[in-house]
Amino acid sequence: MASRVCLVHYHEVGLKGRNRSRFERILIDACKAALAAFSVAACVRISGHILISFSVPGEAERALDVLRRVPGVARVSLAYHTNRDPHEYCEAAVRALGEVESFTTFKVHARRSNTDYELSSLDLNRQVGEVLCEAFPDKIVRMHDPDATVYVHVVQGSVYVYARSVRGVGGLPVGSAGKVVTLLSSGIDSPVATWQLARRGAVCVPVHFSGRPQTSDTSEFLCQDIIEQLAPAIQIGRLYVVPFGDAQRQISLDCPSSLRVIMYRRVMYAVAERIARIEGAKAIVTGESLGQVASQTLENIMAVNEVVDIPVFRPLIGSDKIEIIERAQSIGTYEISCQDAPDCCTLFMPRRPETHAKLDDVHEAWSAFEHDAMIDQLVQAVEYRDFESASYRAPRRWRERHYDALAPALPGDEVRC
Ligand code: ATP
Ligand code: MG
Repeated sequence: MASRVCLVHYHEVGLKGRNRSRFERILIDACKAALAAFSVAACVRISGHILISFSVPGEAERALDVLRRVPGVARVSLAYHTNRDPHEYCEAAVRALGEVESFTTFKVHARRSNTDYELSSLDLNRQVGEVLCEAFPDKIVRMHDPDATVYVHVVQGSVYVYARSVRGVGGLPVGSAGKVVTLLSSGIDSPVATWQLARRGAVCVPVHFSGRPQTSDTSEFLCQDIIEQLAPAIQIGRLYVVPFGDAQRQISLDCPSSLRVIMYRRVMYAVAERIARIEGAKAIVTGESLGQVASQTLENIMAVNEVVDIPVFRPLIGSDKIEIIERAQSIGTYEISCQDAPDCCTLFMPRRPETHAKLDDVHEAWSAFEHDAMIDQLVQAVEYRDFESASYRAPRRWRERHYDALAPALPGDEVRC
């Protein structure tokens, strides 16, 4: 009797030469973690794919939607797993083709990973094709660009048969490309920027600047919702929250109003860099897009960027808002980001922010307040909340040494954020 399994295809991981097995291991772990709520019986590599079987019937169908969102997954097929009995795999092929919605033309694509099977790929194509022609007499065989393809893959003692596949998000598995700190507001752009870096294999550690105590903590809850929305395909292990309202108030008192936003951002970048160093993260990520708002002109980006030494990645810098919104919708964060929440961005905003800041003016404003002490204080006041994640490792050395500096505000490992 055929059972249902998922076959995960991974193009880019497959191109990794000598590192390939490491990438495959990380991808297997990512798939297992994403399917933690399922009854996974096996998740193993077979002949250039990952095979996932389940002990509860019906789960393979449901798992498809989770797996296609896992970074590193190029495609997922819902396959029948049979033994080498031609009767079994031909019957599976009929069922697989019968599940394809509306098609006129089809072909069979057979492949053997073990040459000890007596039939060649061509023989298999012919054998399964004949059965399908009988079962679907009104359909037409077409070798080039058919509407449906039935894949028949012989691997050791098993045969995998499938015709239905869904496209995955591609990229590389989370944990294969190091760690980054992402500046996460509850707006539309930064969740997309975070997702993009995760899709390229980075472990993302978001840092959110809250307007607390000058504003409510709503934006902090929205950031949590965003993290929960990205899971289980992308698991973020820790959210840092910096209560920034008082510091902003201080800046607004000490600096020219047109340069306030640049000062806020310089402090935000500096704090993020300190957290990045503690975390062992090698870059900062933002959701900035060129010219989107006053702080995102080239001059202002430069005026902010100069306070940090590590690279700052802006994956959306050349994207239009409409493209960013489409991506936010597809990853499910758009609705959350549309909720209104005051955060540090809405606090003490000048009426006319500088759009083309001159560095001399920026440096003068920067020396008008105790920025080093402020950055120290903010790092001391950082709070965090942990989430389920297979790829995130907390900075243990730092926790031991500086635990007080980052101890949660509430008992236990969670803070009110
Ligand atoms: P988003 O860009 O996420 O939609 P936004 O439009 O409110 O949020 P911008 O003013 O465009 O924010 O800020 C540019 C980038 O600066 C954001 O994409 C984000 O990376 C970072 N940023 C802004 N506000 C915050 C915040 N409160 N906490 C952390 N990072 C922030
Ligand atoms: Mg923005």
